[in-house]
This record gives sequence, C-alpha cells and structure tokens, in this order.
Amino acid sequence: MDYPLTLAQILEHAHRIHADKHVTTLLPNGTLHRYNYATLYQRVKRLANALTELGVQRGDRIATYAANTYQHLELYYAIPCLGAVLHPLNVRLSPTQLAQIMRQAEDKLVFVDSEYVAQFQPLQDKIDFLQPVYFGPKSADTDTSYEELLSDAKSAYTWDIRDENSAMGLCYTSGTHGEPRGVLYTHRSMYLHTLAANQTDVFGLTEADVVLPIVPMFHAMAWGLPYASMFAGADIVLPGAKYTSIANLIADTGVTVAAGVPTVWAAAHPELRKRKTDISSLRRVIVGGEAMPPALIEVYEKELGVEICHAWGMTEMSPTGTFSKLRSKHQNLPDTEKWRIKAKQGRPIPGVELRLATETTDGFKELPWDGETIGELQTRSPWTANGYYKIEPTPEHFTNDGWLRTGDIATIDAEGYVQIVDRAKSLIRSGGESISSIALETALLKHPYVQEAAVVGIPDEKWGERPVAVVVCTKQTDENFSDILRQQLISEFPKFWIPDKFICVDEIPKTSVGKSDKRTILMQLTGSQPPVEKSRIRNSTRKKS
Ligand code: AMP
Repeated sequence: MDYPLTLAQILEHAHRIHADKHVTTLLPNGTLHRYNYATLYQRVKRLANALTELGVQRGDRIATYAANTYQHLELYYAIPCLGAVLHPLNVRLSPTQLAQIMRQAEDKLVFVDSEYVAQFQPLQDKIDFLQPVYFGPKSADTDTSYEELLSDAKSAYTWDIRDENSAMGLCYTSGTHGEPRGVLYTHRSMYLHTLAANQTDVFGLTEADVVLPIVPMFHAMAWGLPYASMFAGADIVLPGAKYTSIANLIADTGVTVAAGVPTVWAAAHPELRKRKTDISSLRRVIVGGEAMPPALIEVYEKELGVEICHAWGMTEMSPTGTFSKLRSKHQNLPDTEKWRIKAKQGRPIPGVELRLATETTDGFKELPWDGETIGELQTRSPWTANGYYKIEPTPEHFTNDGWLRTGDIATIDAEGYVQIVDRAKSLIRSGGESISSIALETALLKHPYVQEAAVVGIPDEKWGERPVAVVVCTKQTDENFSDILRQQLISEFPKFWIPDKFICVDEIPKTSVGKSDKRTILMQLTGSQPPVEKSRIRNSTRKKS
C-alpha cells in the first residue's frame, strides 16, 4: 500500500492501543498534573478544531514559547496533525534573536507557557503583530486563553494529511557556533526517526517505561522523545519550567528512562547519590548534546547502577545519529574498558550513514575507519536535512554528492564507534597544528580538582592561537593549582597542547541548551568578539598524536 507516514498515525496508535497510559507534568506549585493518553487525545482534537477556528491553515508556522508540559505535548501533536508546522522557540535565546527567527519563520500564532509570561514580554513588544495564546489564566480581556479555546472547541476532528513529505516541524539550531538556522522536518522524516529511535539497541523504549525528557522540547524536538515514547506506549513525565529536584520527580513517578545533557547529570549526581534507593526505578539515562565525561559515566554506572547511553546527533538530524551501547562481545571486558567504549559517541543507528572525509582539490576523499585517522564527519539519512530554512544550501554545509557536513571532527573505529574529537569550528590551531579542546577537557576532568572544564583558543601573535583552560574546581585550590593540572596533561599530550593558562572560575558560561559557551568564554578572556566561524579543516588527514 502507498501508506503515508504521518504523525497522525503515531497519535492514533497511541490512543487506540495505549489509551490508559499516563502523561504527568510537574506544575509550578510543585504538584503533579496527571492524565491519560485518552484525555490527551480528546484535547488534541479540540485543539485542532480551535486552531482551525483561529484561521490556521496547512503549512502555517505556529510557534511555542513553552517548557516541557502537557500543553506543549498537545501542541506537538495538534499542530502537525492538522497540517501546520510546529515551531518550538528556544526560550533561552534573546528577544532580539527570537524576533528575527519569528520574522523569518513568519509564525502565525504563538503559544506562551504560564511560567514564561514575564520573560515573554520583551519579545512580545518586538512581535506585536502576533496575538499570543496563554496557557495560564487571562490577565486582560483581550488575551486569548488556551483552556478557553479548548473548552469552546468541537471534539470531532478527522486528520487528513495525504502527503508524508509535508512539513511538520521547524527547529532552529542552538547557534553555538554562529547564528541560529532553521531546520524543517517532514512527517515522513519524523516518523522514520521515531521508528529508528525505538529500536531495542537505540532508545529501546517499551510500554513498561516511564520516560523523563529533561532535554527541553525546544531543543531538537526533545530528541524525538515525545513521539518515540507515545509510539511505544510509555508513560511520560514532563518536568515543567522549574523543577528543583530530579530525584523527587524520579521517586514520585517511577521514571525508568531519563534524557538530558551532561551538565544536568553532573549537577544531579550528588542528590541522586544520596537518594539511591528512592530512584531505583531509573534504569537508563540517555545523554547527548555534548560529550559525557568518562568519569561521570563511571559514577552513574558504578555507584547508582544506572546505564548511561551516550548519543550524538544534531538539530539537522532530527536529531539522532549515533547511540553508544556495548556490543555482546564487550560484556566480559573490565569495567574501565567498558566505560572507555561508552564514552565514545556510539555507532550509527540503523538508517544513518556516516563517512569520515577530508577535502582535496578533487572533492572529498573518504578516510579509513581505524579509530585513529581524524576527519570531518559527514552524514546522510532519511531524517537529515538537505538545507536550511529559506537559505540556499552552500558547499560549506552540504557536499555536492548529497552529504551533510556536520562540522564535527571525529575518528571512527573498525566496529563503527564514533569518537568526536572536536568541532571544526572550535579546533584550536597553534603553529599550524590542531589541538583538540575536547581531548584536553576530558583529561582535565579526570583530576579530582576539576568539576567542569572548557578549553578555548586565545589569539596569539606568534602561534596564531594558544589554548587556555577555564575550570570549575571541586575545592579551594592551592597555589600550585596550575602546576598540578599541567602535570595532569603533560604525560598524555604533546608539549604544545598544554594550555598556557589555567583559570579557576565559579561558573562556566553555558549556551541556551546547556553546553559550554565558548564564544562567551573567549569574549570574556579577550574582551573582543571572536569570529563567528573558522573555515573548516582542509587536507587534514593526520593521526592522533
Ligand atoms: P545541536 O544541534 O544544538 O544539538 O548541536 C549539535 C552538535 O552538538 C553536534 O554537531 C556536536 O558538535 C554536539 N554534540 C551532540 N551530541 C554530542 C555528543 N554526544 N558528544 C559530543 N558532542 C555532541
């Protein structure tokens, strides 16, 4: 059959087969809001009617300015299933950036979380052409309230998406390495991504799971979890805008699988360790967005008995590309060896093609998968974008033969395990040689003094750039602090890799999605604006030192 792959199929399946499964949301007052898929389904249908009443048509972009809540989940289904395009806004971007993004997207409506009303105001002033719909109670008669829209709407709605290639969602990249760019997903791409994510050796969600996406619903579609969880029939727990205790949420709702960036898990570790017996339901944590330090993987697995699965991907990839699990042949390895493998970004998930490449005058040349050769990581898959929204594809981002240039620099071993060595755009170039900031950060994190580390390249007259390490320390440092850390690195790296300075700070600036914000660190260290992007590596076939 020529059967269109659409999100309406996911919603209908979840309703028909798993109607009694639950969605739980942590409300701002600390209580839990809970309803089942059947109620969610009825509200999604009402919402589709309400949106239609508001004049929403196929292809219209509808923005959300919201945390991980049940209302946001309803919009995740209602907007695409009626044929419009869900556009989750990154609430951590500045009003000026967001206004620019919304103008480019030509959003027709914006839904605003009750927790973000004050924060939304400066943005509202810039986009006063849009009438917001508020999740919370109305503060003025002219306001549109979400609950009123739903209660006034009809309950019957028939989904009618015939073209699986029609757009369902629009996410902007986080802008870590330049201006945010829009990535448009189709029903078909998101459906296929959901099937791939739900394979046993990928997210491996089952009907018995209780899934906690800490990753925000505005970041790369919450890694696809809102769709993957409901297709599997798992319960979902949404942490709202201001959760104070991950341990409480896990203990109160029986979370079995949670997902978030490493910073979240580094911060939660002390609390989770104290509450070890209360959080015994937690079987797996999916980590991505940034490299998970091996030491952190070790404490979660060893102390808490929680399996850490490292995933790599990009907004451009819907976002999942690789997933790190041990192979059957690794089961008898010593623990330290297992954690070393798990710290890699993992193997391509079924459906994702990867290649390691280097640019030559004749185009790209493929490099060997030997775990040693470093090259540019390129990818293609049915859920990878072939361009940015309203921007002509350029050779900087897409190759002539149809691959996405990820901007990540990696090795791939013979078994397909990818190890990200650096970002092309953040590689430190010193005296014409490259220095991997990720390798230095990973080594620094092995020292008990170091809680967080970021290494950046500071402009240098003689060398072009020199590395400087910024670290958050676990305890008061002594005067020999720099020497101690230097010693930590000296045995592992060439001399020219060793940072010129080690600076102890209280906090490392973070981007809107919780990654080390190297642009801001550089600006703080140099007092100037760094270049947005460096050119990508060329002819970079070289072995790890
Ligand atoms: P974003 O589109 O904001 O999710 O950013 C994608 C980028 O985040 C990738 O190109 C990588 O540079 C980085 N990234 C994502 N996952 C990982 C990971 N597990 N380890 C290291 N870097 C990662």
